[in-house]
Amino acid sequence: MGRNRVVIYPDWCKGCGICAAFCPKKVLAVGLDGKARVVNEEACVNCGFCEPHCPDFAIVVIPEGEPVPPESAPLDSKEETP
Ligand code: SF4
Ligand code: SF4
Repeated sequence: MGRNRVVIYPDWCKGCGICAAFCPKKVLAVGLDGKARVVNEEACVNCGFCEPHCPDFAIVVIPEGEPVPPESAPLDSKEETP
Protein backbone atom coordinates (compact mmCIF):
# COMPACT_ATOMS: atom_id res chain seq x y z
CA MET A 1 0.00 0.00 0.00
CA GLY A 2 1.42 3.32 -1.08
CA ARG A 3 1.76 6.40 0.98
CA ASN A 4 0.84 9.90 0.05
CA ARG A 5 2.88 12.96 0.90
CA VAL A 6 1.42 15.79 2.90
CA VAL A 7 2.92 19.05 1.73
CA ILE A 8 2.56 22.51 3.23
CA TYR A 9 3.27 25.69 1.33
CA PRO A 10 4.71 27.98 4.01
CA ASP A 11 4.19 31.16 2.01
CA TRP A 12 0.43 30.58 1.99
CA CYS A 13 0.03 29.23 5.50
CA LYS A 14 -1.24 31.72 8.07
CA GLY A 15 -0.93 29.33 11.00
CA CYS A 16 -4.62 29.10 11.83
CA GLY A 17 -4.23 25.51 13.01
CA ILE A 18 -7.35 24.17 11.31
CA CYS A 19 -5.41 21.43 9.56
CA ALA A 20 -3.86 20.29 12.83
CA ALA A 21 -7.26 20.31 14.52
CA PHE A 22 -8.87 18.21 11.78
CA CYS A 23 -6.07 15.69 11.37
CA PRO A 24 -7.22 12.55 13.17
CA LYS A 25 -3.67 11.31 13.63
CA LYS A 26 -1.94 14.47 14.85
CA VAL A 27 0.34 14.50 11.84
CA LEU A 28 0.29 18.30 11.63
CA ALA A 29 1.17 21.06 14.06
CA VAL A 30 1.73 24.79 13.94
CA GLY A 31 5.30 25.72 14.80
CA LEU A 32 6.57 28.65 16.81
CA ASP A 33 7.11 30.46 13.54
CA GLY A 34 3.36 30.43 12.94
CA LYS A 35 3.52 27.96 10.09
CA ALA A 36 2.03 24.50 9.91
CA ARG A 37 4.37 21.59 9.46
CA VAL A 38 4.35 17.83 9.24
CA VAL A 39 5.53 16.48 12.57
CA ASN A 40 4.46 12.86 12.43
CA GLU A 41 4.26 11.77 8.81
CA GLU A 42 4.46 8.09 9.70
CA ALA A 43 1.04 8.34 11.35
CA CYS A 44 -0.71 9.78 8.29
CA VAL A 45 -3.56 7.57 7.09
CA ASN A 46 -4.08 9.48 3.84
CA CYS A 47 -7.62 10.45 4.76
CA GLY A 48 -7.22 13.75 2.93
CA PHE A 49 -9.14 15.80 5.50
CA CYS A 50 -6.42 18.39 5.86
CA GLU A 51 -6.39 19.56 2.26
CA PRO A 52 -9.99 20.76 1.83
CA HIS A 53 -10.11 22.27 5.32
CA CYS A 54 -7.27 24.72 4.81
CA PRO A 55 -8.88 28.09 4.02
CA ASP A 56 -5.73 29.25 2.24
CA PHE A 57 -5.10 26.19 0.07
CA ALA A 58 -1.71 25.90 1.73
CA ILE A 59 -1.76 22.15 2.24
CA VAL A 60 -2.04 19.41 -0.32
CA VAL A 61 -1.95 15.65 -0.23
CA ILE A 62 0.13 14.38 -3.12
CA PRO A 63 -0.32 10.77 -4.17
CA GLU A 64 2.75 8.59 -3.91
CA GLY A 65 4.78 8.64 -7.08
CA GLU A 66 3.80 12.14 -8.12
CA PRO A 67 6.53 14.80 -7.96
CA VAL A 68 6.57 17.17 -5.02
CA PRO A 69 7.17 20.80 -6.05
CA PRO A 70 10.54 22.02 -4.77
CA GLU A 71 9.04 25.13 -3.16
CA SER A 72 7.10 22.89 -0.83
CA ALA A 73 10.13 21.49 0.97
CA PRO A 74 9.68 21.15 4.73
CA LEU A 75 10.34 24.36 6.60
CA ASP A 76 13.28 23.02 8.52
CA SER A 77 15.03 21.89 5.35
CA LYS A 78 13.96 24.68 3.03
CA GLU A 79 16.81 26.30 1.21
CA GLU A 80 16.74 29.59 -0.56
CA THR A 81 17.00 29.24 -4.28
CA PRO A 82 19.48 31.53 -5.99
S1 SF4 B 1 -4.21 13.14 5.10
FE1 SF4 B 1 -5.40 12.85 7.01
S2 SF4 B 1 -4.00 11.80 8.45
FE2 SF4 B 1 -2.76 12.66 6.78
S3 SF4 B 1 -2.09 14.69 7.52
FE3 SF4 B 1 -3.99 15.00 6.34
S4 SF4 B 1 -5.66 14.91 7.85
FE4 SF4 B 1 -3.82 14.01 8.82
S1 SF4 C 1 -5.18 25.12 7.78
FE1 SF4 C 1 -3.82 25.97 6.17
S2 SF4 C 1 -3.39 28.07 6.82
FE2 SF4 C 1 -4.21 26.98 8.62
S3 SF4 C 1 -2.36 26.22 9.69
FE3 SF4 C 1 -3.05 24.58 8.30
S4 SF4 C 1 -1.86 24.87 6.39
FE4 SF4 C 1 -1.71 26.78 7.58
